Amino acid sequence: MALGFPFMKSVQEALEEMMPAFVPIGTERLSLLDALGRFLGEEVTARADIPAFANSSMDGYAVRAQDVAGASAASPRALPLVGESKAGGTPPPLVAGTAMRIFTGAPVPEGADAVVMQEDTTVGGDATVNIGVAAPAGHFVRPRGNDLRGGRTMLPRGSRIGPGELGILAAQGISAVTVFRKPRVAILSTGDELRDLHDPPAPGSIVNSNAYALAAMVREAGCEPVVLPNVPDDVDATVASLRAGLVADVLLTCGGVSVGDYDFVKAAFASVGIEAGFWKVRIKPGKPLVFGRRGTTPVVGLPGNCMSAMVTFEALVRPGLRAMLGDPRPYRPRASVTLAVDHRHATGRLELVRARLAGANRATPLRLQDSGSLPSWVDVDALLLLAEDKAAYSAGETVPALFVRDETGAAISPFA
Ligand code: AMP
Ligand code: MG
Repeated sequence: MALGFPFMKSVQEALEEMMPAFVPIGTERLSLLDALGRFLGEEVTARADIPAFANSSMDGYAVRAQDVAGASAASPRALPLVGESKAGGTPPPLVAGTAMRIFTGAPVPEGADAVVMQEDTTVGGDATVNIGVAAPAGHFVRPRGNDLRGGRTMLPRGSRIGPGELGILAAQGISAVTVFRKPRVAILSTGDELRDLHDPPAPGSIVNSNAYALAAMVREAGCEPVVLPNVPDDVDATVASLRAGLVADVLLTCGGVSVGDYDFVKAAFASVGIEAGFWKVRIKPGKPLVFGRRGTTPVVGLPGNCMSAMVTFEALVRPGLRAMLGDPRPYRPRASVTLAVDHRHATGRLELVRARLAGANRATPLRLQDSGSLPSWVDVDALLLLAEDKAAYSAGETVPALFVRDETGAAISPFA
């Protein structure tokens, strides 16, 4: 089948065709900290109850509720003080009609069913304690299995392993988990003009900056970038390099997908058996993107212009990579921002406009929006989604956006 269809897909239509090609590529066992940020490839059931034993949530005295019924500050109940329960110990059973000193997290002794906090007591002479409050059964006791019962589902398949998940896994004595593998993503740059960062400058040459920007985006998406050597604008060289790249789990190329005389990438795709999906998307920047697959390997030909490559990666490749990692929510959420200034754009394609955000998500588009303008993705917070059929936007208008910074900080404390 020849690459190239007579019509262009919308971004959503392109995603609908691409996403089914991006599926997890198996699982691996990782120790807990190595699994941070990954997604569970299996359900994890609780091995034991949490809490593992009934324990006190206060420093105070363990008692039988019936022994302190009716106690109050005005008429405290004096109970002999017998024994102690401290965290890490195993207390003797509570003798009926006595109180036992107990500390936070310490086991509630057999026979006790309530804890009176220290602040509601006074210590009397002769090893007695005056209980100044009634404590119903269960008071300040964290019962065994209250939070989680052994044998129940603790973390379903697809759970993201974050700090909380690591904590509970460790609490259960689980030291390794099965997570979806991290895809290896090959990045192949084409163009006679490209030189490596450390090569000496030559007339007409430019540094292959896309390899760095794309590798960073792959890594930020949680995957493993594999940067291949640059290839010149030549079908045979491109074919050889594509073959090398196809050993990865995903193959991204960049450049050479337009209609220029030196755009050989689509022809090279066909000759290595990459099945054509589609060519061209109604997206700005990045229209000439090409998608295909070879067996189970998704292949995306990104345009060479640096902003086209980054924007199309963000819109059309990143969700697929997240899905391969097993993320059940692979898309950036559709956020909502308020334009700080009037803005016009060309209709006919969905435009993703680089913008910075100030307080209350007021968005200012960067001055430079050209597809080849690298400084237009410096300190970018968001990509505004400007509609195919609407040219003029006014200050104060609400527009949908993707927040593209993994960590959006604030200069002011949220507690101020
Ligand atoms: P192309 O898509 O190959 O027609 O390239 C479009 C524009 O992007 C040209 O100005 C190229 O020089 C530039 N370009 C292509 N590939 C890269 C790259 N890997 N790094 C930086 N710029 C590139
Ligand atoms: Mg080129």
